[in-house]
Amino acid sequence: MHELSLCQALIATAERQLAARPEHAGRRLKALKVSVGALSGCEPDLLMHLFPHATPGTQAEGAELKVEFQPAQVACNACGERRDVSANQLACPACGGNNVSLVAGDGVFLTGLTLSDD
Ligand SMILES: [Zn+2]
Repeated sequence: MHELSLCQALIATAERQLAARPEHAGRRLKALKVSVGALSGCEPDLLMHLFPHATPGTQAEGAELKVEFQPAQVACNACGERRDVSANQLACPACGGNNVSLVAGDGVFLTGLTLSDD
């Protein structure tokens, strides 16, 4: 995964969300909250390191990046259990079945924005 382009995409998404609300147009961001999935291929440390390099000239300039780790989560198609699992063990922890669907942990998402006061 290319963390720098991911940073740019997250900032672009944040700017679109601000632009969609006229009362927030032109406001600066104080923080962006991002969920990083265990199976996303994204390295949270690298993301946080590169983020400040992606912000100059954007509404996120000077903003803080807050990363929340999202474990892989499966829903079992056999017994209906829905639980967090380790990324290398994609089976149902309850019944041991392999007929599971990945329901979380495979992506990187913007989950929150904090606007600057000024
Ligand atoms: Zn199960």
